[in-house]
Amino acid sequence: MSPRKGNRGSASGPEAPASSVDRGDLDRPLAEVLGASSAKTFEKHLGLVTIGQLLEHFPRRLVPRGELTSFSELRLDEHATLVAEVLRVSTRRMRSRSGSITEVVITDRSSDSGPDLLAESTGATMTLSFFNAWTASRDLTSGTHALFSGKVSQYRGELTMANPHYAPLDPEDDVDAADALDSAGRPVPVYPAVAKLTSDRIAQAVQLCLAAVDWSTVPDPLPLEVAREHRYSDLASAYQAIHRPADEQDWHRAKARFRHTEALVLQAALLRRRQAVAQRRAPELTGAEGVLQEGFARRLGFELTASQQEVGQQIAADLGQVHPMNRLLQGDVGSGKTVVALRAMLQAVDSGAQAALLAPTEVLAAQHHASIVRALGPLGAAGTLEGDPQGTRVVLLTGSMPAAARKQALLEIVTGEAGIVIGTHALLSETVQFLRLGLVVVDEQHRFGVQQRDRLRETGADEVPHLLVMTATPIPRTVAMTVFGDLDVSVLEGLPAGRQPIDTHVVGLLEHPAWERRIMARAAEEIAAGRQVYMVAPKIGADDEVPPFSLAGSAADEKAAEAMVSTTWLELLVQRAPELEQARVAVLHGRLDAAQKAETMEAFAAGEIDLLICTTVVEVGVDVPNATLMVIVDADRFGISQLHQLRGRIGRGAHRSTCLLVTRRDPEHPSRERIAAVAATTDGFELAQADLAQRREGDILGDAQSGGRSTLRLLRAVDDAGVIERARREAQAVLTADPGLEQHPQLLAAIRAALDEDTEKYLERG
Ligand code: ADP
Ligand code: MG
Repeated sequence: MSPRKGNRGSASGPEAPASSVDRGDLDRPLAEVLGASSAKTFEKHLGLVTIGQLLEHFPRRLVPRGELTSFSELRLDEHATLVAEVLRVSTRRMRSRSGSITEVVITDRSSDSGPDLLAESTGATMTLSFFNAWTASRDLTSGTHALFSGKVSQYRGELTMANPHYAPLDPEDDVDAADALDSAGRPVPVYPAVAKLTSDRIAQAVQLCLAAVDWSTVPDPLPLEVAREHRYSDLASAYQAIHRPADEQDWHRAKARFRHTEALVLQAALLRRRQAVAQRRAPELTGAEGVLQEGFARRLGFELTASQQEVGQQIAADLGQVHPMNRLLQGDVGSGKTVVALRAMLQAVDSGAQAALLAPTEVLAAQHHASIVRALGPLGAAGTLEGDPQGTRVVLLTGSMPAAARKQALLEIVTGEAGIVIGTHALLSETVQFLRLGLVVVDEQHRFGVQQRDRLRETGADEVPHLLVMTATPIPRTVAMTVFGDLDVSVLEGLPAGRQPIDTHVVGLLEHPAWERRIMARAAEEIAAGRQVYMVAPKIGADDEVPPFSLAGSAADEKAAEAMVSTTWLELLVQRAPELEQARVAVLHGRLDAAQKAETMEAFAAGEIDLLICTTVVEVGVDVPNATLMVIVDADRFGISQLHQLRGRIGRGAHRSTCLLVTRRDPEHPSRERIAAVAATTDGFELAQADLAQRREGDILGDAQSGGRSTLRLLRAVDDAGVIERARREAQAVLTADPGLEQHPQLLAAIRAALDEDTEKYLERG
């Protein structure tokens, strides 16, 4: 049995085992149209196998014929496609090696846009180099408009492209290229391309496919009533228009149709998922006795914030229902989600069920275990001498525990002695049997996707547990609707009172080499005041590594600056810093074994370590309020959300904290903007927006958020909020009128196809 089939019946949840999802001619392999060898290239470089997949590889933008691409948009190292006018061409023999070089000077300002004399002086120019390319000097002559695509590189401080792919755009000059790019004066589509498959080669393949499809075989997932209301063209015309638009407006209409379809299919899928889950039964966790909850309330050393109370009530009410809760709890770093979760877990145990808390890493699981054991005191130590007989037991279960300890934990879980079970996602593995699992809390969900959520519900039992997913990554509303459209959302507002602000500074070592010493001095000052320090490196070092000595020194050396700073390097720097001679230093990273990691983390939490050199293992959740300085070295190597998470490790106690974002990059380097954004605000919501804006192409929803392949192609969860909300209403209307989608088989097929892709991707990852 293929794994794909095996998973489909169960992981896709609401969907019945799917018959093959039939998209007619769109399912035909590319090889039938392009030939085997071309098809292989498309599969290898773009992952495209079927005609449908290629036809949904939409152009990124259109280049109006006759209008040139401004060079100021070009970025070093990117793969770019641009339209430019050739100014001059010259070919000469190379001095240093044999062969010839053809230099083509192009401009982004058309010569017929103004008086000839002015043209060259107002437009930017760029020199392209072609090595041993006689055809280039033949095809590209002064005045030619052409499409160039290639990797943008740098030569003597100027942007250039070496051996770019080109296609002249003027139909009169070159009949072949005119064929390839369509001659009717239409705008030129520019596709997301790679070196091996340039935009115009993709365009050619798309044209062949468009011609080969019998559209009467292709189902249209957009419900007829919706298509009518918005006056969309039929599906075949939309595919034509998105790839071969008559004009810009035509293209935008087609895009709007596809975008709308995407949003609708996605929302319908999420709503069906939600409906299906809502019909399952869950244990009623009314928490009648409430011994643990009451005991914990008395032990709590602080007042719950208003928001914690409000969200707590919401969750408590959900848990008392006979249908499963599916709630996302969003709250910025440090907003106090754990205590909310713990109260919910105690309600579960008070109601005679068990609760599981899943953390993304073993470090975090161990820390949750330690802090919950501490918070509960005797209440969490039932069965021991100090324990409260009315209490429960809290056990830790991780993948790397010694066999004996693991066996003991499993035993306590299956007998129900353990009321609270804390672990990593390994907890979801089949070998773990609960007596009665009532609630699952997932901490820091951004590594916990739709499929894992489904897996929770595949227990085979009549009852499924309630689910609370927590995240510190603030998610704009429509993003949440898109990624977690099957969940209810609660937001924990604000931070507990008494928090100290965090001062964040960018430390640019290239401009200020002397600041390197200040970093060490700051660390020493903090330690002298009784505080603790994190020093984060982007990578784990090798034992035999011989790093260059100073950070600032390496910043000035181009090659050394390229290599990421490692934990080993930081260790060496700290060892050699006279200010830090007395400091108690430890190293923590993912390659250490679990016991070592836990031991180090505990020692740091207990204040026995002053300075922790680490990787992003401390990124999420780690809570040591006495730590007040975080030095992130090579901060430019991290994403915005990651930096915000890391920084969230400080500013958790009564003391004022400082975060130093250390970079060896040039102030002009694009990554410096990212760091500056993080330094400018500690508002997680603002940063999440900035992050989304920066990662549009990378599609944050794809990997980081949904944990599965994103079905989003054109849709942008932030920009397309209106479309998403409309689609949600429409999907709701369709499903209300036709819950089984019997009248909408094509929409049903599209939903299945979307879920299938997710499942496939999930399986690939193992
Ligand atoms: P996060 O939401 O990032 O997971 P935590 O749950 O780890 O945050 O809480 C951060 C810190 O704030 C913890 O040390 C916790 O004990 C403390 N805390 C939580 N709620 C309150 C409160 N209402 N008042 C004071 N401190 C609180
Ligand atoms: Mg947390």
